[in-house]
Amino acid sequence: MRSLNCDLIIIGGGPGGYVAAIRASQLGARVLVIEKDQLGGTCLNRGCIPTKALHRSAEVFGLLKEVETFGLARLDCLGGRPPGVFEHALSVAERLRRGIGTLLKSHGVDVIHGTAQIEAAGRVRVTNSDGRDSEFETAQIIIATGSEPIFPPIRGLEHAAALGTSLELKGQLPESAVIIGGGIIGLEYASIFAALEVEVSVVELLPSVLPMFDQDVVRRFTLALKKRGVRLLTEARVTEIAPGDGGLEVTVVTAEGDQTLVTERVYLATGRRPFFGGLDLDRLGIQYDRRGIMVNEYLETSVSGILAVGDCIGEPLLAHVASMEGIVAAENLFGRKRPIDYRVVPNCVFTFPELASVGHTEASAAEAGIGVCTGRFNFAANGKAMALGETDGLVKLVAEAASGRIIGGQVMGPHASDLIAEIALAVNHGLTAEQIAGTIHAHPTLPEAVAEAAEDILGHAIHQTRPTRR
Ligand code: FAD
Repeated sequence: MRSLNCDLIIIGGGPGGYVAAIRASQLGARVLVIEKDQLGGTCLNRGCIPTKALHRSAEVFGLLKEVETFGLARLDCLGGRPPGVFEHALSVAERLRRGIGTLLKSHGVDVIHGTAQIEAAGRVRVTNSDGRDSEFETAQIIIATGSEPIFPPIRGLEHAAALGTSLELKGQLPESAVIIGGGIIGLEYASIFAALEVEVSVVELLPSVLPMFDQDVVRRFTLALKKRGVRLLTEARVTEIAPGDGGLEVTVVTAEGDQTLVTERVYLATGRRPFFGGLDLDRLGIQYDRRGIMVNEYLETSVSGILAVGDCIGEPLLAHVASMEGIVAAENLFGRKRPIDYRVVPNCVFTFPELASVGHTEASAAEAGIGVCTGRFNFAANGKAMALGETDGLVKLVAEAASGRIIGGQVMGPHASDLIAEIALAVNHGLTAEQIAGTIHAHPTLPEAVAEAAEDILGHAIHQTRPTRR
């Protein structure tokens, strides 16, 4: 038994936990982070970062295959599926993980590796990998234990690997893959695999993918995805996975009847749910349900002195949301008290082409009874997109008709995940289409498409042909 007194113990070193630790330490608190696995959590080790490194590998591979379209000599040395992409993705994660360790140290945050259990408010026991226990006393606790994959009831599921566990990043790329689930994670991997010459099919239960986007954008996106070699089966349910002579046989039930897909690997992307880290919430009296640990707007649980942040408190399961919750929770404990604000949460999908959305879609605004006008601008008319060779896509802005204020936006196309930041800022601060259009945007750049979409709302986008007058 060892005892160390501190102001704050954080359980979980993911983007919720480690960011809360740094902010609390900046506010003068003595902080201890307890992590049972690796600093950085799901995001850094198995999620956001390795998938984005894979995305970049796939992008570079795609560019190398197409060098002739840029006026360069064809490369005959590329061969088939590239061999080192998983290793590269993990090495990027490793570098970043070391960086977080250094960052925490520089802020004076203590880190202990082990599994935490809350004995009572103010008292935490840690069991390390040798099975030895230590006990710590603290004024406050933040739970940041993350989420875990959901495993649907499918016969033979043991033959599938869940995306978002480190398992799927081992070995070589498969020749073919079936991905169960057409949510963000499933589509990102499908897109990446197709670009890396893996024959890939996605099986999705719902009639359409990505409900957080307007249907006109989704239609363009799914067309682009199919053009890039992803086979998308919607309104389809996988019922069984079984080893066969030519590989794994995946039985898929569709409206047109049953199909069998034969594939080298099956991956699972059927959603995630909050994970409570083995903490005995019932004994502690911390309220929760299947959506997560219940917290109020200040991220306080039902037990005084215990807060919770990140995926373990439920949707949206996003790293940037977890981090903002971490900051707000730390400030509520050691600085200025304020509620968490979820009005503006950008959502990015790192596919080919990329997608991003923020705020209201046209459809959600209509549902909320808000009268809107929309503006669109196609990347086909943007000089930078043309130079990049990525003209498929558009910027769509949604403005409140009465005030002209931007209340949402969606981007499909090159660097959509970067472009959404300007729209998020506009939504957050109630900027109007006129204010965006009236801001000089550098030329030639992709953000010009945002300005032109704002101009389109006002009825005068410059680089858009007018409908023929009769
Ligand atoms: P986590 O990152 O899961 O961290 C929780 C930590 O708590 C873990 O390290 C765990 O080991 C530790 N822990 C749990 N219980 C205990 C215990 N009892 N004692 C000690 N330690 C414990 N989000 C984005 O915003 N952008 C993306 O591009 C993106 N891509 C993703 C791709 C994939 C494949 C996946 C699976 C997820 C992706 N996400 C993305 C989601 C993102 O990873 C999560 O939203 C984010 O990691 C949540 O952070 P967190 O701190 O709440 O939890």
